Amino acid sequence: MRGIAPTLLNTAEIELWPGGLLRARGNRDARALARARRVLRRKRDGLYLAAELPEGLLPLVPRLMHESGIDEALDALDRDPVHRRPGLDVVEHLPLHRLHERLDALGIDAGAYAERTGLPLVPEPAWLALAGRDRYCRPLWLRVDAARAWRHLRDAALRDAIVLDAISGYRSHDYQLGIFARKRARGLGIDAILAVNAAPGHSEHHSGLALDLGTPGEPPAEESFESTPAFAWLRDNAADHGFSLSYPRDNPHGIVYEPWHWRYAPA
Ligand SMILES: [Zn+2]
Repeated sequence: MRGIAPTLLNTAEIELWPGGLLRARGNRDARALARARRVLRRKRDGLYLAAELPEGLLPLVPRLMHESGIDEALDALDRDPVHRRPGLDVVEHLPLHRLHERLDALGIDAGAYAERTGLPLVPEPAWLALAGRDRYCRPLWLRVDAARAWRHLRDAALRDAIVLDAISGYRSHDYQLGIFARKRARGLGIDAILAVNAAPGHSEHHSGLALDLGTPGEPPAEESFESTPAFAWLRDNAADHGFSLSYPRDNPHGIVYEPWHWRYAPA
């Protein structure tokens, strides 16, 4: 559909994907996904829960209606189109109340963490726009304004013979919670995990405005990115497109230097 960007509809625990963008994990999935208008995908582990087909909703798991957050996801399915015209939408966010419960359960004091790091809680947008593909050919989701700015940034770099690729864009609270749950299950303590991962709810990637950038031939998310021509170009030109480095050397958040992490700030 030319000129109209596919969207990711967001609810607290379940994402609603355009069917054609998801990889099938089996024959049954493949048939359903190819025909689905929307696919309900559990955020914490990526499990496909149901496919919305022309003839109705096809459950892909047993006991679909017992799935946590399913009512909210089905409401969103009823309300929203698969495609939106970019630019016509106001930015809405999901409420944060559920996140506080999850942080409590993990033993993370959100208030103390925010105070110590200066990193605020970041609500998730209610929907995201497709911003092309990342380095790994996965769909890249960003807020619609950031998606547009990223295309302009990438194209401007290309005109100067600089190739930028996206390594990571939007990530959900539940995705980050899933990382913590898996590390806890391996026996790591909360402090050890927090030394490497931002607390769920506090990553700029939740906003749909942050991008990890790279350039071909360079490993992802390594400090060596700072000595590439791509980084030099970003340093000189990113601000013209609304992007800035979030975590320079010796930043006040105590976060390691991340030359690859850039944030779009709406004008
Ligand atoms: Zn990042």
